Amino acid sequence: MNKEEWMNTVETLLKANDGASLETATVPEVYRAVSRAAMADIYDTWESCKKSSKKRVGYLSAEFLVGRAVFSNLYNLGILGEVRDWMKERGFDISSFEEIEDAALGNGGLGRLAACYLESGATVSIPLDGYGIRYRYGLFRQEFENGFQREAADDWQRCGDPWSYRREDESVLVEFSDFAVRAVPYDMPVIGYGGKTINTLRLWQSEQPGSFDFAAFDSMQIDKIAKDNVRCESISYALYPNDSTEKGRILRLRQEYFFASASVQDLIRKHKQKGLPIEKINEHISLQLNDTHPVFAIPEFIRLVMKEGLKFEKAFLLARSVFNFTNHTILGEALERLDMKRVRKLLPEIARILTKMQARIEKEFPSGKLFLIKDETVHMANVAIYAGNKVNGVAALHTEILKESTFRDWYEVYPEKFLNVTNGVTPRRWLALCNPELSALITEKIGDGWQADLERLKELEKYADDPEVRHAFAEIKYLKKQQLSEYVLKREGVELPPEFIFDVQAKRLHEYKRQLMNAFSILYYYFRIKEGKEPNFKPTAFIFGAKAAPAYWNAKGVIKFINAIADKVNNDPEVNDKLRVVFVTDYNVSYAEKIMPAADISEQISMAGMEASGTGNMKFMLNGTVTLGTMDGANVEICEEAGRENEYIFGATVEEVKEIKKNYNPREIYNSDPELKRIVDTLDDGTFDDQGSGMFRSVKESLFGGWSADHYLVLKDFRDYVRVKSELNRDYGSEEFFAKCVRNTANGGKFSSDRSILDYAKNVWNL
Ligand SMILES: *Cc1c(COP(=O)(O)O)cnc(C)c1O
Repeated sequence: MNKEEWMNTVETLLKANDGASLETATVPEVYRAVSRAAMADIYDTWESCKKSSKKRVGYLSAEFLVGRAVFSNLYNLGILGEVRDWMKERGFDISSFEEIEDAALGNGGLGRLAACYLESGATVSIPLDGYGIRYRYGLFRQEFENGFQREAADDWQRCGDPWSYRREDESVLVEFSDFAVRAVPYDMPVIGYGGKTINTLRLWQSEQPGSFDFAAFDSMQIDKIAKDNVRCESISYALYPNDSTEKGRILRLRQEYFFASASVQDLIRKHKQKGLPIEKINEHISLQLNDTHPVFAIPEFIRLVMKEGLKFEKAFLLARSVFNFTNHTILGEALERLDMKRVRKLLPEIARILTKMQARIEKEFPSGKLFLIKDETVHMANVAIYAGNKVNGVAALHTEILKESTFRDWYEVYPEKFLNVTNGVTPRRWLALCNPELSALITEKIGDGWQADLERLKELEKYADDPEVRHAFAEIKYLKKQQLSEYVLKREGVELPPEFIFDVQAKRLHEYKRQLMNAFSILYYYFRIKEGKEPNFKPTAFIFGAKAAPAYWNAKGVIKFINAIADKVNNDPEVNDKLRVVFVTDYNVSYAEKIMPAADISEQISMAGMEASGTGNMKFMLNGTVTLGTMDGANVEICEEAGRENEYIFGATVEEVKEIKKNYNPREIYNSDPELKRIVDTLDDGTFDDQGSGMFRSVKESLFGGWSADHYLVLKDFRDYVRVKSELNRDYGSEEFFAKCVRNTANGGKFSSDRSILDYAKNVWNL
């Protein structure tokens, strides 16, 4: 569209939908009109892409943390700048779209990965469609009340959902033993960079099947009508706010079967509509299971294929050439298990298929070492490995751990199934869009085109030794820090001087990620500065962003603890020219886009062996930030790519963790290190007040009490952590430090999700 066509479309939409003009319309009204104008623009391309390829891939995921769509879509269509200018000429600033909710249909890394993968699939022109759940409410909005986390509903559709079309005519029925629901698809376009390929994210919404119950209405059984309605709609009502261990809840089970069944029904129906034989469906679709949440798709597929007339064995083998499984955890305890009694009760046909699969494996491997069902429990990962083609971990180290320990027995029998696909992030959102200033510098130095060919960043490496470019990098960092500082002041009421070092830890709150260790390090510097022991300490702002699962008591305790530290530090005139602390409210994708470009330090400090990959680490790296981290997840590969000397690595390695755990005594460390003891004791010596909640005591107990005392080696790694943190503080501002920043961006090419998707296409989907 040219300028005239664009503005006419926007104005027509405003008139038709809202009875408004650009001059009178509200921001949400303009947002809807602009989004729908773009939807009109892409219609033809989208329709032709749907029909274009012989084989399509379905990415099944219970979570898609898509973030704000409007800027990314306009950017990928190549019209963001123009649209901004055109609207501006008419007196409208499109940055006001920032007040529109973004869709947080995911918890954290796993859901964000799914969103990056779809965008990359469209960018590299792979026919990759997403399938998930259209939650009415996404991840909760976070607020703080006296430093305690409070959860509020995330009404992401408040300003409408102009980036989706409801496809009523493609609804399917999903049946449970006690009732059935209608799954209604909402399709979102996934626009690749350059706008040539547009794929689909299909999200299912659960509704009541059939028509209005007039009989019940006539007899005034309003309660019954309402109850039936609520029962059906509750399935897609809310996202589970827990990103690691799943509770064996009935609703969760319904959610999982709901979207797995709807997606598989949809795919089989489309296949049949093309007049193709069911036996050949594996030549036309591959399905990727993002963790175990969609694993019901496997028995559902077998069930439906058997309904088409195939015998169990044939159906099983067909499934085996369609499904692939991505694992995201290491801990055996965190793997999803379901109560077979419950499955039998709610999904009897699925239970029968699972039992047949178990009988098959017993026959194949009579030793019983490999199983799907044991002690009336279904092991979802085992189902996916046994009935799937490929199984992948998400970083090199993670995949090795899977092979050596988590899935050792499976690896022995099926070594050819296992492979690694290291995670990635889309460089469009996580560099080009969120850091236009750095992007302009990169383009100035190496030319355009790196946005879809990220290995080209390597051409920047030589500039690490060029003081002028280094300084240009540093100036951009300073500018991004100013921008973040303004935003944080407005949102959080805390002043972060941009001259300070911005030391950032932004990710879900979890004990294994060790935000507590970071908090302890702040107190370490706090006490030392007060005692005059840190005369050369460079002023540092510690920035946290994290949500804790609402029922995760200790994680919430750590949030309260850090907020209490922030309160003390920021109001202490003896130290607040050296230290600032802020816990930003409601960390989400849009906040991340402001934080990553402004960070001087990327804290990636999980206990080694715990973080499968991490993707936040990659976003920071692309924006020229050094990693302060452990040898965990993709940090290992970040070191490989950038050179370990360009990061700040500390702490026990996976092997060392194993050794240490054999006879670990955290109390010994605590008793022999008075400086550390004093810090830990602030949890219960009255330094901080948890308002009688008992949270701080509980956090302290996690370091000493019971068999799992200091399970994540906070005390063990603390000294090495502050040693390296102090080294970083010394290095900051030097020529060599800025060279490291340049080298991080220059060597981030591997971490483009385009590369990940091409790995999947080649080694998993055989495209
Ligand atoms: C990237 C991202 C994550 C994942 O961060 P990790 O550090 O890899 O755990 C979580 N939440 C949001 C909003 C993100 O953008």
